[in-house]
Amino acid sequence: MGPGTDDRKVLEGLIRAGVDVFRLNMSHGDSDEQMKRARMVREVSKELRWQVAILVDLQGPKIRIESFADGPVELESGAHFIFDTRDPDKPGDRHRVGVSYAALADDVSPGDTLLLDDGLISMQVQKINDGRVQCVVQHGGMLSDRKGLNLHGGGLSVSGLAKHDLPHIKLAAEMGADYVAVSFVSCAGDIERARELLREAGSEAALVAKIERMEALENLAEICNATDVVMVARGDLGVEIGDEELPGLQKHIIRTALKHNRITATATQMMQSMIDNPIPTRAEVLDVANAVLDGTDAVMLSAETAVGQHPLKVIEAINRICLGAERHFEAEGGDFRQLNVRFQRIDQAIAMAAMFMAANVSVHAIVALTESGSTAQWLSRVQSSVPIFAFSTNDQSRRRMAMFRDVFPVKQELESDDADAVVAEALSTLLSHGAVKKDERVLLTMGDRMCRSGGTNTLRFLKLDDKTRERYGI
Ligand code: PGA
Ligand code: MN
Repeated sequence: MGPGTDDRKVLEGLIRAGVDVFRLNMSHGDSDEQMKRARMVREVSKELRWQVAILVDLQGPKIRIESFADGPVELESGAHFIFDTRDPDKPGDRHRVGVSYAALADDVSPGDTLLLDDGLISMQVQKINDGRVQCVVQHGGMLSDRKGLNLHGGGLSVSGLAKHDLPHIKLAAEMGADYVAVSFVSCAGDIERARELLREAGSEAALVAKIERMEALENLAEICNATDVVMVARGDLGVEIGDEELPGLQKHIIRTALKHNRITATATQMMQSMIDNPIPTRAEVLDVANAVLDGTDAVMLSAETAVGQHPLKVIEAINRICLGAERHFEAEGGDFRQLNVRFQRIDQAIAMAAMFMAANVSVHAIVALTESGSTAQWLSRVQSSVPIFAFSTNDQSRRRMAMFRDVFPVKQELESDDADAVVAEALSTLLSHGAVKKDERVLLTMGDRMCRSGGTNTLRFLKLDDKTRERYGI
């Protein structure tokens, strides 16, 4: 979200066109502005009766240059330029700019490549002189205030949470964010610390680990264990490790996350040309589709909708491309890597049994009566392409499930312990919306006691013929 999505009518259009999660990027805009956006998302999605999640994206310890005295400067290739950690607040010009990250001068050596603005401008370090890093511009361009600074190859030493993230954690709690993303994660501890701070602030948000630095790749397995969602943050990752590594890494990160039963999102420059153009390039179409074929749950947009000229067209296009790619994914069937593991939990075993059955007797839908959403998460990790209708009375569970691939969260109205009554309500809702039809076959997962977390212990197979509908009175 950004200025481009602040109009209520635009937001309504975006939700209707298929947005499941809205990101509030704490690197831009002030707290009041972001709070207003969160309120509007809640209001409009309630009106439309749509399950839509809010993701608060923490800025993290991203190293940025400070500001220039008279706006952007043009840097020509071959020119000399200085990053000044000694006097960071002194306004910048064509020759120097401040950097408040004091350790920069210790972290870089002559010969290193520094990248600005996601790699648009590159410089080679020549000399470090009393806290001033002297460089030669390799690829020049326009440099403006507060642009990001990366070291090619990684290694700028900062940990996952920064001081300026703390008020944003409080803000996320206040707005009831469903997801909070931690930027520049390096290890599991960064996620654990963020979770602790969020819980202290009273937030139940799920955690997203943004994989955008070398160290995170080295610690990917422990990060997967600590987090709920893994994001392939291609913007910073590409500058740190080289863009040629991105296609392979995207597949590796998604595969590893799936193996750990985690949700994945793929981000940055997915529809970049649509910031200005009304249609995507063929390369962008293929990129979005390939992320879906790689198995991602979500694709994320940034400037395309936040400040772009055609936010609604972007969403319509990316939605169309995702659906198109999913039609081809179907042929691959379910992924049963987990079948040779012993399950610790009955609800997980039931979910896997359901998916195994779905793959071997044709079913049109899976219906999960799931209070916390965890059954829906396990069901969706198999990626069988069978739609999973997840009924829950819990608002936050439903919003969170909006990010899960193949999962359609639905509000369960009836808060009753009468299992058959709840099943009847779910089936009649799906029949009346045409999500399932007469005589189709569905699988249903549920617990003995309704509206309780973690109680799934039952798998039912139903053919929606006259007899079944009579039995449930639907
Ligand atoms: P950002 O994260 O947009 O917050 O930088 C995503 C990325 O780096 O790709
Ligand atoms: Mn980033």
